Amino acid sequence: MMRLQRYDMELVYTQGKYIVLADALSRAAVRGGEHAESSTDSEVTHHVNMIAETLPVTDAKLKHIAVETEKDRCLQQVVTHLKNGWPRGECAQYYNIRTELSMVKGILLRQNRIVIPQSLRQEMLKRLHEGHLGAEKCKRRARTVIYWPGINTDIDKMVSSCDTCLKHRAKQQKEPMIISDAPEEPWQKVGTDLFSLDGQNYLLVIDYLSNYPEIALLSSTSAAGVVTHMKSIFARHGIPQVVCSDNGPCYSSRDFQKFAEEYGFQHVTSSPLYPQSNGKAEKGVHIVKLLLKKAVDSQSDPYLALLSYRASPLEHGVSPAEILMGLRTTLPCLATPSKNKYLRRKQWHLKQQQKAHYDKASKGLEPLSNSDTVRLEDCSTWSKRATVLEEVNPRSYTVRTEDGQILRRNRRSLLKTKETGLVDTSTEDTDCAVSPKTSEMLPVLDDKKSAEDMHLPVLQRSKRTVKPPDRLNL
Ligand SMILES: [Zn+2]
Repeated sequence: MMRLQRYDMELVYTQGKYIVLADALSRAAVRGGEHAESSTDSEVTHHVNMIAETLPVTDAKLKHIAVETEKDRCLQQVVTHLKNGWPRGECAQYYNIRTELSMVKGILLRQNRIVIPQSLRQEMLKRLHEGHLGAEKCKRRARTVIYWPGINTDIDKMVSSCDTCLKHRAKQQKEPMIISDAPEEPWQKVGTDLFSLDGQNYLLVIDYLSNYPEIALLSSTSAAGVVTHMKSIFARHGIPQVVCSDNGPCYSSRDFQKFAEEYGFQHVTSSPLYPQSNGKAEKGVHIVKLLLKKAVDSQSDPYLALLSYRASPLEHGVSPAEILMGLRTTLPCLATPSKNKYLRRKQWHLKQQQKAHYDKASKGLEPLSNSDTVRLEDCSTWSKRATVLEEVNPRSYTVRTEDGQILRRNRRSLLKTKETGLVDTSTEDTDCAVSPKTSEMLPVLDDKKSAEDMHLPVLQRSKRTVKPPDRLNL
């Protein structure tokens, strides 16, 4: 049925007596028995000869293939079976397609595709992959001219371990958003980042629950300078339990570590080159920068701009300052603890909406396990190979590169490859057999187009026993 789908047929019933010219095949009697399907009929042979003439392969190449076919133990067996009848279970990989096989001028054909002997498969793979097209394109190319059992598996394997292709692979899709648990109290968890504006450096600290931003003008971006200003901010609002930052030099410095130990807060860092995971602080920087820029532009007081941001209600109707300081205004308000609970619920709800929106164009990446081989994203190419050491945070891994560097990266910047470790790839000599392991790893099985080549129809055939009607028992 699949094969007929490419035709647009119109069936017209005509009685036999009105058909003056019958087609060749309906008059060619099918001789019973096992040999029925081998291509000995002269019409069929003629047809196959025509195919051989139209194959897009040079004569010299055809001769080469014929010579190699003759040397190929497995293909010779197939040819013998074709001629003398096919015992069940022999050459299993070809058994299911035996009706499509034929032998023309020493070349084995599957319909109009040349069956390539083992010795030439590597070369053919290379030819298929000329121009480094993707796996699907290679398969489509192969589908019209050449065949061997497991050709799709081999193409996948080749493309997924091709150095050039891996290097220039597209960015990985974004993953579904992880909603970080909102803290219960204000100033329990804060995010921090540095930014520069008009040649001056600033430190930003922002509260996760209230969105209350604190900024400080830095005289230098050294760890000592940053720590001093953070101490001053913490003296005002208290010491948070968790401080989130990126891996900037001042945050990953020894001074900052010491500061965290002394003040007793947990310091969480995001993966390098993946600022999205320090989202709160990034967002804070964006907001504050915009405020300051607008203030400069309109020549108004930047402090007043900051004040009005802190005092303006957010999406949930309460302002950062109210949440952080529990400021009371003339309007009646709920007692603080239940208000915080209400806020958390509201925030969670808002985040769910954001997540639903973000996740529309996202797909989870399969988690990595230790000692997986990966490639690192580096200036939008995937050139560096590395081995996974461990997962340090959700979706954040440490890896060891080929030159021995230990790096930390987000899952999205790590491309899982089937390259066999950092050791050189070993060439398998599978003589007319695909090992079951490789075919299990095949991601192609859900591809409809390639199902034909994977002999899927056989797997799908129903297992029920067929009971012929009684009238056949005559
Ligand atoms: Zn390639």
